[in-house]
Amino acid sequence: MKINTPIRIAIFLSIVIFAFATIIFFISDDTLNIFYSLFLFFLSTIGLIYYVVKTFFHEKIKVIYKNIYKFKNTSNIQDLDIETVEKEVKEWMDLKEDELRKMQKDENYRREFIGNVSHELKTPIFNIQGYIQTLLEGGIDDSEVNLKYLSRANKSVDRMINIVEDLEVISKLETDKEELLINKFDISLVASEAIDQLEMKANKSNISLVFSNESSTDFVMGDRNKIQQVFMNLISNSIKYGKDGGETRVRFFDMEDNMMIEIADDGIGIEKHALPRLFERFYRVDKNRSRDIGGTGLGLAIVKHIIEAHDQTINVRSTKDIGSTFSFILEKEK
Ligand code: ADP
Repeated sequence: MKINTPIRIAIFLSIVIFAFATIIFFISDDTLNIFYSLFLFFLSTIGLIYYVVKTFFHEKIKVIYKNIYKFKNTSNIQDLDIETVEKEVKEWMDLKEDELRKMQKDENYRREFIGNVSHELKTPIFNIQGYIQTLLEGGIDDSEVNLKYLSRANKSVDRMINIVEDLEVISKLETDKEELLINKFDISLVASEAIDQLEMKANKSNISLVFSNESSTDFVMGDRNKIQQVFMNLISNSIKYGKDGGETRVRFFDMEDNMMIEIADDGIGIEKHALPRLFERFYRVDKNRSRDIGGTGLGLAIVKHIIEAHDQTINVRSTKDIGSTFSFILEKEK
């Protein structure tokens, strides 16, 4: 029978103490006086209790403790006392709970993401299918609709391409996290290039793109191509969600060893309640407007990824109907 429950340990202890007492009682009359008998009984009881506590509690706790702290540097196992074990096991439990919660969150996130991707792709695919079917069913010979439907199908293909390209960028950013090419580069040049590329788009909405560098340098540390992508996404959003005749201002400010980069517009703005979710994938304040103007809902998620990969954060201030300002910080050249 294993001695591994409180009642079994109690019975075992009582039997052994009773046996000690009986033996000492019998030998004490003949060979030992009462003082030595009590002293011998005391020592035997200490030895027994020490043995029981060590074998049945301490050794077992040590094994459990060693297992849960296998990979962590914590208190020396020799100095272990019950309170320390209790405290450290609690810490370990909290840590595991956090890990589990994070894993559950990631899992939900993944599921939601797959759902979103298929939903986003479904709309253009069904549209293309509808246009092609109509053309096949005779529309191709109808000069009223054939070109119109082909160009609509083409627009849907463009939308799918945009989504797939943005998804590719996000997945690359997630898998090659460490592969940022951090170099010194001329950020004024990068901003000007992005502005040049978006000039035509801005002209269509009569939006002027204004650039000023109020910092002490043109050079910062970062991944040039990725920061270029940040400018493209933020400036193109300022145009998409800008007002006809409005203005987008790209400004750099001095912050000692850093530079603050701001992209501000006087467009439709964003309601306060939407701000915390703005950088989530596929989140749009106004779904229809975003889709109509070819938005994928991934632009800001990409921006956030890139800025965070630079160990910085992307910030936004916005007031409905007044405008929005996106800003981030980069380290100046070293
Ligand atoms: P989208 O492809 O829809 O533009 P983004 O991730 O770039 O996706 O932006 C997410 C949403 O944030 C947009 O759908 C829009 O509602 C809002 N948004 C982004 N930039 C601006 C801006 N400059 N002004 C107003 N709303 C914006």
